[in-house]
Amino acid sequence: MINVTLPDGSKREYADGASPLDVAESISKSLAKKALAARVNGELRDLTRPLEGDSDVAIITDKDADGLELIRHDAAHVLAQAVQALYPDTQVTIGPVIDDGFYYDFARKVPFSTDDFEKIEAKMREIVDADYPILREVWEKDAAIAEFKRIGEDYKAQIIDDIIPPGEAITVYRQGDWFDLCRGPHLPSTGKLPKAFKLMKMAGAYWRGDSKNEMLQRMYGTAWANEKDLKDHLHRLEEAEKRDHRKLGRQMDLFHMQEEGKGMVFWHEKGLTLWRVIEAYVRRRLTEAGYVEVRTPQVLDRKFWEQSGHWDKYRENMFVCETEEEETLSLKPMNCPGHVQIFKFGQKSYRDLPLRMAEFGACHRYEPSGALHGLMRVRAFTQDDAHIFCREDQIEEETAAFIKLASSIHEDFGLVRDHISLGTRPALRAGSEEFWDKAEAQMLNAARAAGVEPVVAEGDGAFYAPKLDFQLKDAIGRSWTCGTIQLDYVLPERLGAEYTGEDGQKHRPVMLHRAILGSLERFIGVLIENYAGSFPMWLSPVQVVVAAITDGAAEYAEEAAAELRKAGLRVEVDTRNETINYKVREHSLQKVPVIAVVGAREAEGRKLALRRLGSNGQEIVSLDDAIVNLAHEALPPDLKRAR
Ligand SMILES: [Zn+2]
Ligand SMILES: [Zn+2]
Repeated sequence: MINVTLPDGSKREYADGASPLDVAESISKSLAKKALAARVNGELRDLTRPLEGDSDVAIITDKDADGLELIRHDAAHVLAQAVQALYPDTQVTIGPVIDDGFYYDFARKVPFSTDDFEKIEAKMREIVDADYPILREVWEKDAAIAEFKRIGEDYKAQIIDDIIPPGEAITVYRQGDWFDLCRGPHLPSTGKLPKAFKLMKMAGAYWRGDSKNEMLQRMYGTAWANEKDLKDHLHRLEEAEKRDHRKLGRQMDLFHMQEEGKGMVFWHEKGLTLWRVIEAYVRRRLTEAGYVEVRTPQVLDRKFWEQSGHWDKYRENMFVCETEEEETLSLKPMNCPGHVQIFKFGQKSYRDLPLRMAEFGACHRYEPSGALHGLMRVRAFTQDDAHIFCREDQIEEETAAFIKLASSIHEDFGLVRDHISLGTRPALRAGSEEFWDKAEAQMLNAARAAGVEPVVAEGDGAFYAPKLDFQLKDAIGRSWTCGTIQLDYVLPERLGAEYTGEDGQKHRPVMLHRAILGSLERFIGVLIENYAGSFPMWLSPVQVVVAAITDGAAEYAEEAAAELRKAGLRVEVDTRNETINYKVREHSLQKVPVIAVVGAREAEGRKLALRRLGSNGQEIVSLDDAIVNLAHEALPPDLKRAR
């Protein structure tokens, strides 16, 4: 007899050799029908694999995150089977699950194209309809290598040879006459795979990710539990494309990038205006929260980076140059060691702590050009960086204060927090278990003190200490990591930072690395996509365009613009000889929030006809009222609160 404990705590008895499918069937016919796999004593298993003794069993359906992952994994197998059925000259390599879907890397002389997708998808649906049972087989390593070689799958043979220790068995999953090396688990049969999949794109990928190896063809797909979820996903992608910050950046004349400066941004006037508004706002918030601002050198000697440990650990990401005086210098990849130098300058006592040292720090990091993506992943960026030097007993209070500050700033930018994650001890780490127990508890307590229950991300902490990351949600439901705080005992030690305690003795401060936006480049990218370029008034590079209908109104248009500017608004005037509809359309494409139309009537009555972006109506107001109201509306949120 086998005793099974279900997720609700209830217990049931089954005959020896019973499988999770038997468990599902005994609960209800409909559950057995929906079942995709099972979690047995915490481990994901095939539905039909017999239980090996008393077990905790949870049945997985497509409602579980695990279920979706299984679906995507199966879709990858079905894709590979379909491709090999249609194109027998293809070898399979690997096909993992990724966010929203899966990919499979194929080796084939002839290139695939997206034109092949329809045919491949049709074949995949055929395989689903055939409802082949998916069967798990355990093989000897050598026998598996021989078999994969025999059928011409050299890559698979090589994978097994490389990753499986001698003598260890491997598992193979068979569906119909096709099989693949796989750890599993899988759905019980191909018929269980929902037909809510779609092939998305092709890309090149090196075998083993190594550019010295041959290039494979990577086929990307997406797979979902049902048609509706697939449709929603495709709709989100469409929305995302419309919001693409690279496209809007050009359209709105904010910035551009070019080949000679890979991963570097040319900020145009309007983009820099947005930048400066954000920077000024954050600076005010930091000053209010008791930070001081510093600036540290852009280029420092190799010796400096050797001492900080970056030369050793981070060298491959650093831009290095040599001088005629035979110095080796590097652009700073981060600001932390520079801040420690300022901390160390002069005597520090416990009265100086906490010392919150901020810098809009311009950093450079070498990233392979293939990893770069618009403003989201760059080589040159400016962090809204700060380091809080404090005593150990101040960690919680400082962390809690930071969470509140960061949350308030994110909110002011109109971004909604999804959650805060607490990255705990990683497998590879420094420090004792006691240290990690304490440090994790400090971060957890700090979050709770700030009224937040963090989501634990097991093993996601940094090498030296745990960290908290902010996950924000944008207008179309995508999540972005913006903002982080990380505990650090190591760098102060390494660089010899100390302060005199109340006891007259020397002590090491703790360092909290923290950022709220991350990098200004990326954050601006996130803002552009979140708002689809239609920023709230306070962020808009141009807040008002005064557009004259006739030449006769040009003088009044200039005058009105001058008055609005005096009230602090960012204003342009459009007196070109174009129709008013043309002007409105053009400034709407530029996402200007307010267009003030003036003709002879407005000039005579000292009025403005205000049109809002995205609305067809207009509102006639006196110039004086418009100045007061628009100036108030354009105030950054912190200044508005102070009124
Ligand atoms: Zn697999
Ligand atoms: Zn730092």
